[in-house]
Amino acid sequence: MAIKKVIRMGHPVLRQIAKELTPDEILSQTTKELVEDLVDTMKHEGGIGIAAPQIGVSKQVAIIELDPENERYKEITKQLTTSGKFIIFNPKIEYLTQQMQGYWEGCLSVPGLRGFVQRPAKVKVNYLDQFAKEQSVTLDEFLATVFQHELDHLFGKLYIDRITDSTMLSYIEEFDQFIVKADQNPSSK
Ligand code: ZN
Repeated sequence: MAIKKVIRMGHPVLRQIAKELTPDEILSQTTKELVEDLVDTMKHEGGIGIAAPQIGVSKQVAIIELDPENERYKEITKQLTTSGKFIIFNPKIEYLTQQMQGYWEGCLSVPGLRGFVQRPAKVKVNYLDQFAKEQSVTLDEFLATVFQHELDHLFGKLYIDRITDSTMLSYIEEFDQFIVKADQNPSSK
């Protein structure tokens, strides 16, 4: 459909709790177009996930697609053996462990930065798919983090809110120059 402008940190829509959709709304033409816009915008920006609030639409819709060819996260996605597209409406997260894991995250709404965020290592997400059918996935490792990052957008949160050590926030150029080099496996630090 169309590539939309990604709104950035400071825009109030990113801080709102997005609205849940009814099954009828999920099946509507408006939502179909919204999903296509989100996919087009995510691909254009080279992201691995995007949430509707990031294009200024305060509705509980997120897309996650881990493409092994992705350039922005190549140090991680090259390790993936599978990729799938998730279209997620009205998600509910259940934390399956107290154990935390940390990854360097980035965000299309916070351009140019990477930050190290610790999140629960295993989660279960119940949601409705694009056919308004109930789905449930259990996630660990990087996908658990990606889901939590994207779903945070539906509840007014950004990853920088979850950084506990502000020395672990970096511009991407310096991240590539100093941090990736210092640690050959930054993704699982
Ligand atoms: Zn984000």
